[in-house]
Amino acid sequence: MTVVYSLRKKENTEEVHIFLADKTDTGCVSRLKSICRKMAKAETSDQVKTCLKEGEARTESARLGRQVCGTCVSHLYATY
Ligand SMILES: [Zn+2]
Repeated sequence: MTVVYSLRKKENTEEVHIFLADKTDTGCVSRLKSICRKMAKAETSDQVKTCLKEGEARTESARLGRQVCGTCVSHLYATY
């Protein structure tokens, strides 16, 4: 299974966190917690973008700017 990224917005806020998601045949399913583990999927209202590859997630985060959680974004630039 391929790991992709989802950007999700917290309910009633402009705050966006990034979730890891698993790509399946029928779409992309976000994990239950954001990368920073501060937000649960259940607290999110909209999926801003989903099924993003790492590079696309970086581009999208850069476009949204400060709305996106810094801890989540730093994960995209971390090397393993
Ligand atoms: Zn976050």
